[in-house]
Amino acid sequence: MTKFQEFQQITLFAMCLFFFHTAIIFSQPIPTNYFRFPMDEPILLSGSFGELRTTHFHAGIDIKSGGVVGVKVYAIADGYVSRIRVSAAGYGNMLFVTHPNGFVSTYAHLHNFVDTIANYAEKVHYAVQQFEIDTLLLPSVFPVKKGDVIGYVGNSGSSGGPHLHFEIRDEKSEVSNNPLLFGLNVKDHKKPRLFRLSVYPIGENASVNSIKKRIDFPLGGTGTLKPYIKAAGTIGFGIIANDVMDITSNTYGLFAIKLFANDSLIYHASWDKFAFAEQRYILAHIDFKERQVRGAKIQQLFLLPGNKLNFVYKKVANNGLLTVAKNDTIKMKLIVSDANGNENVLNFSVIGADTEPANALNNLAKSDADSTLVFQYNKKNKFATKNFKLEIPDSALYQPINFEFSEIEPAPGKWARIYKVHNGYEPLQKPAKIWLTHPKLDSVQLKKLYVARITPSGFGAYVGNGIEQGFVSASIKEFGSYTLKADSLVPRITALRFSPGKVLRPGNQIAFRISDLETGIGSYNAYVNNKWVLLNFDAKTARVWYTVKKEHLVKGKNTLQIVVADKLGNIKEYNSNFMAN
Ligand SMILES: [Zn+2]
Repeated sequence: MTKFQEFQQITLFAMCLFFFHTAIIFSQPIPTNYFRFPMDEPILLSGSFGELRTTHFHAGIDIKSGGVVGVKVYAIADGYVSRIRVSAAGYGNMLFVTHPNGFVSTYAHLHNFVDTIANYAEKVHYAVQQFEIDTLLLPSVFPVKKGDVIGYVGNSGSSGGPHLHFEIRDEKSEVSNNPLLFGLNVKDHKKPRLFRLSVYPIGENASVNSIKKRIDFPLGGTGTLKPYIKAAGTIGFGIIANDVMDITSNTYGLFAIKLFANDSLIYHASWDKFAFAEQRYILAHIDFKERQVRGAKIQQLFLLPGNKLNFVYKKVANNGLLTVAKNDTIKMKLIVSDANGNENVLNFSVIGADTEPANALNNLAKSDADSTLVFQYNKKNKFATKNFKLEIPDSALYQPINFEFSEIEPAPGKWARIYKVHNGYEPLQKPAKIWLTHPKLDSVQLKKLYVARITPSGFGAYVGNGIEQGFVSASIKEFGSYTLKADSLVPRITALRFSPGKVLRPGNQIAFRISDLETGIGSYNAYVNNKWVLLNFDAKTARVWYTVKKEHLVKGKNTLQIVVADKLGNIKEYNSNFMAN
């Protein structure tokens, strides 16, 4: 489906549905003199709240630590450590502190916790015999005072360098708040930068400067646009912009976007807070196809019909769309701002075009729309062939789509078909489910089958391995090409910091790299003298490590066993020994 066709459909829905987005406000007022920063000042950020990430808005701020691990992290107010979370990816080592004023502060990617908390976490690891833990604590276990050290800055989990990821959540709703609104000011006297204004003709007869497709107006970082934009019919706007701060050379997300037409506010988005469940609507907020094709992040100032992002949009009149009549002169004003109130303003005019442009694109659009199947965004959609089934839940799409599908028969000597399930230019808010037929196999072989997504480089990435009445099923988060593969390879275990027979002492660390070529790591366990010991895992470096404890050792020869399984249960064992005095 072309962009033009997509917008024809959006207009149809924009005309049918007149809904105004207003944020639900039910949380407590923001206290501005209550919290301190979780690190020593001056505070420099590498990421802002609401920033546009790949599949979510950034739910906190990232605080720099000068590129090093081990910098102290403080409780931002009195309260208690209410939750300890450890994971090999994602947030890594993370602490939650609950405060009596209804907020919870969270501290992620920590290198380690302060000793008392670390000792407690270790007891939990050993009790459940798992590296990944998520433990809730009673207020009496670790009460903290404002400014108490609770941990140290690190790079654990899915982190690209040492920093503290810091959030302030509402205790009850878990809505995440912009920490910079709590009186925690960072030095920022610089206004956001506007790079591009995009104008989208939406609907059959719409045009911008006599053209029936999106027109981009470069703004070169400043904020002037001349001369006017000539438009006919219904149009929508998009912007590419970012923010900068004092001292750092990083770029950040915006705090707010406002668009006025003849002094009336038609669009207002503000990243003061949002619910975690809404984060994925970033895929509807940005021009998804533009990002997939060119990597550019255009923020659309109009709503796709299935975009239910609520907290961020304070006002969106007529879904952000503007209808331009023949003799109109509309004075537009765009204001982008940061959390410190620095603003960049763009004034421009939209003038009604007198003539309708030529209709060449329109005919083209009609001819290929005839043969396709239309999926609606506001209902469940199903599709099936003899070999393939698809179910898309209600509200998984953001707009109607002309569904595309093809099956490629296996090459001679091969058995797996390739299923092209729509295209990579349309996002999914919720996972869809697919079922692929499998060849006749015995139960052992059947357990090795999995659904793989064919990545742009041609690799088949594991997505799922449900077995249901002649089909292998998987939940998919994106459209694209899928196939069936079999995984019979065992994981690999390579010693990084260990040599058999060496003498180890308490406190020594041994390390290995674990990897799996096909489905990926499912489980990892280590045993010293046949007793389970904690193997820490860092997913991004594929590194596991064990710190030798006195109570694990026997005098003389000690046995070491590492057992790693992939997601389909193919197991690799590493058996060795070391000496202790
Ligand atoms: Zn972060």
